Amino acid sequence: MKTESEVWFERAKRRIPGGVNSPVRAYKAVGGVPPFIASGSGSHVRDVDGREYIDYVGSWGPLLLGHAHPAVVEAVARAARDGTSFGAPTTREVELAELISEMVRSVEVVRLVSSGTEACMAAIRLARGFTGRPKIIKFSGCYHGHADSFLIEAGSGAATFGVPSSPGVTEGVARDTLNARYNGLASVDALLAANRGQVAAIIVEPVAGNMGCVPPASGFLEGLRERCTAEGALLVFDEVMTGFRVAPGGAQERYRIRPDLTTLGKIVGGGMPLAAYGGREEIMRKVAPDGPVYQAGTLSGNPVAVAAGLATLSVLRADPALYARLEQKAARLETGTRLALADVGLVAHPQRIGAMHCLYFTEKPVTDWDTAALADRALFAAYFHAMLDEGIYLAPSQFEAGFLSAAHTDEDIDRTLGAMERCLRRALAARGKDGAP
Ligand code: PMP
Repeated sequence: MKTESEVWFERAKRRIPGGVNSPVRAYKAVGGVPPFIASGSGSHVRDVDGREYIDYVGSWGPLLLGHAHPAVVEAVARAARDGTSFGAPTTREVELAELISEMVRSVEVVRLVSSGTEACMAAIRLARGFTGRPKIIKFSGCYHGHADSFLIEAGSGAATFGVPSSPGVTEGVARDTLNARYNGLASVDALLAANRGQVAAIIVEPVAGNMGCVPPASGFLEGLRERCTAEGALLVFDEVMTGFRVAPGGAQERYRIRPDLTTLGKIVGGGMPLAAYGGREEIMRKVAPDGPVYQAGTLSGNPVAVAAGLATLSVLRADPALYARLEQKAARLETGTRLALADVGLVAHPQRIGAMHCLYFTEKPVTDWDTAALADRALFAAYFHAMLDEGIYLAPSQFEAGFLSAAHTDEDIDRTLGAMERCLRRALAARGKDGAP
């Protein structure tokens, strides 16, 4: 007998590429059929077969307050009753802009958009428009959405010229995107030296969450700040994932660095399609209609999305102790994970900053894409499926961050840890390695 998820996945694949509206959801990295989710409440989700899971995906980051938080649901319902879209100014947009600017201190002026991709794409266009320079430096293993400029990998041996990593991205675009090594200031220096006066911006995830969870090495972010200032390039912090997560004011608050521009997404929209870019007033005044750099959107600042974002940020601002509670729970999970690894005799690396984490199946700590890529993906896939069987819903790839929410309880974490040891043993046995009790 097929499960409901299996039936729906077959139906989905006939009409939707891969059966999904965003690639990782298709479980290609781990195999199998993704559960179709019917509902979520707090830290749990339920699939169409009625199976319940403890959720460590949290919609890939937005749900810091958990699923269906009453304040968010109420705000969304109220906003929808008032009309779902006007394409005209509304008062809550102003309140949200003010709140963002109050919480994320470098954001003096902010523009709301609808996705993290859009925010990063607009920030880079603005950096180019402001500086009059064509090139950007990004880091291998960082993700800034699917705009052409970001879908570039460094060609081997050609440090200064990128090659497109997706068909449809032209070589012309690729040439303007330079790839450096995360945590590798020397690689940044080499690119800057080879492209003097041409680099508009360095864009970075201040904690890299799209190759798992890689914290910035001591001095890395400071080094980027110094180099940008010296070169007249803009420092863009992509805080789509870290914003409001690793601290109320994002990674820039946690690491005390002031970027020129910041992109926000995920939590800022409280689970609705909303994102933002903002920063120094002098730069943001170049955005249309104040300035010549064009950027627009029919649904930008959508009232329902704004209501969800405003409700979420208001809860965070009213309850700053929430971050200390999150840290405690995340530390409990990390400590338990280390114990479970020791018990089964597996050398692996749980890496974590606040309520964002990754368990890497590698022998060496991960500091950049090269070290991340050493992870045993097959072992991860076996572990992932064992956990899913036990009702623990993890992101379906070794290179995705896991997220805790304020709704996770100690009981959730202890249940997760109980399953973890069994699942590590099952995964090791399946891979023909040790780990049998
Ligand atoms: N930047 C970062 C750091 C992200 O994690 C993501 C999405 N995971 C994006 C940009 C793109 O955001 P979106 O998926 O909303 O387009």
